[in-house]
This record gives sequence, structure tokens and C-alpha cells, in this order.
Amino acid sequence: ESTLDPRLFVKKAQPSGQEGFRTEKSFENLGLSARLLQNIQAKGYLTLTNIQEQSILPLLEGKDMMAISKTGSGKTAAFLIPIIEHALKDPRNFTALVVTPTRELALQIEEEFKSLTQGMQLYSATFIGGTNINSDHAKLERKLQVIVGTPGRLLDLSDRKVLDLRKVNTLVLDEFDRMLDMGFVLDVNKLVNRIGKRDQTLLFSATLEPAQKKLIDGLLSNPVEVKVNSGS
Ligand code: ADP
Ligand code: MG
Repeated sequence: ESTLDPRLFVKKAQPSGQEGFRTEKSFENLGLSARLLQNIQAKGYLTLTNIQEQSILPLLEGKDMMAISKTGSGKTAAFLIPIIEHALKDPRNFTALVVTPTRELALQIEEEFKSLTQGMQLYSATFIGGTNINSDHAKLERKLQVIVGTPGRLLDLSDRKVLDLRKVNTLVLDEFDRMLDMGFVLDVNKLVNRIGKRDQTLLFSATLEPAQKKLIDGLLSNPVEVKVNSGS
């Protein structure tokens, strides 16, 4: 018994690694719309994670952002909550595009958006490879506040002129490091060029390589830089 490593017990106390990311701040003091707050609480989110605490207010103010924080730290809600708040203010003119590297991540983001927008007249759709592109055309016939997708399929729809990227006013590059690892850099550049002028650009990543800094500087304008190191 005396040979047991005490560190084993520390790990056991934090099985998911999630606890280290939590703050004690509640969502109530962010000035969010009542229905959004209600939906956040219905998901069981009682306190902000670290990255959420640092990013939600500057994003609500419309700032560009580069946010680095580990997987599992709550980055999806960190960008979706301000997006939903902005969409509620001007649903007819608001269009956010969330670009993410994998189909699975895209579906998870849309699921999170749907649960956070219960009871609101806000709409989203997901566009990913491996699905029938013709059914994407129908999804784009209605006004969508949030478009989620993987780079290849989004470009494909833009080539076909069914997706008009010029109307995107908020761009989120999610899991940016993985996007580069998977060889999407040219696709991302193409998407960004086709979007052109926009109000807000958000880049979320688990890691940041110094070599990527120049590329990132070209995508963001005067960004707030947020880095969270907690959790391990
Ligand atoms: P990341 O994108 O940083 O990898 P996710 O956005 O996928 O992380 O979130 C990881 C998990 O944490 C999800 O299951 C999500 O529902 C949960 N989560 C997010 N924010 C909170 C919060 N404030 N309180 C509790 N759980 C949260
Ligand atoms: Mg994520």
C-alpha cells in the first residue's frame, strides 16, 4: 500500500479532464437573451469553461479572435453563443459560416446549435462530403443563419453557385490545426477569398504552431488572442 503513487488519485478525481477547464462564473451575467440562457441551462451548462469566460464577451462585441484551447474545453459553445446572440438581433441579414475539418465535427456543431436555439426562429444546415449533393441544394433554398461544413463540400457548392459565400458576414475556422494537418490550407484560402469582406472572423484551435502565425495574421483583423492552459 505504501508504494501507491499519490498521483493516481489525483487523476481519478478528474476522470474526464473537464473539471480543470471550469470556472465558477455563471452564464447569467453575460447579458444574453433570456431564451438563450434558458437553453444553455437546459443543457446542464451551469458555469463557463475557461475558454468561454475569455472569449464570449469580446466576441459579443464583434471582435476578431484567435482562441487556443485543448480539445474538450467547450470551444463550440464559446463561438456559438455569441453567434446566436448576433443572429437573434438581425436574423434576416446574419449569416455565419463554420468551417470544420471532419463530417463528425460538423454534425456535432449543428447539434449544439440546434439545442442552443430551441424555440428560436433560427436555422442551420450542414454540408459535408459523402452525402448526396443534390439534397444540399434544397437545404440552401431557405434563409440559414448558420451554415456548417467541411471545406471540400462548401467549395463544391460554391462552384455550383448554390452557395453564395459573399453573404457570409461571420466566419469561424474551427479546429484550425487539424484543418491544416488534413491538407485543407488551399481550400480554406479559397473559401476566405470568396467570402471577401466580412464583419467578424474567429479562429479556434487546440494548438498553434509558430509557423502558422503568418497565415493566421492574414485571416484575422486586429484579433483578441486567447490562450487557455488549464486542465493538465
Ligand atoms: P472542444 O471544441 O473544445 O473540443 P466541445 O465544444 O466539443 O469542446 O465541448 C466538449 C464537451 O463539453 C461537450 O460535451 C460539451 O457539451 C461540454 N460543455 C461545453 N461547455 C460546457 C459548460 N459550460 N459546462 C459544461 N459542459 C460544457
Ligand atoms: Mg471543437
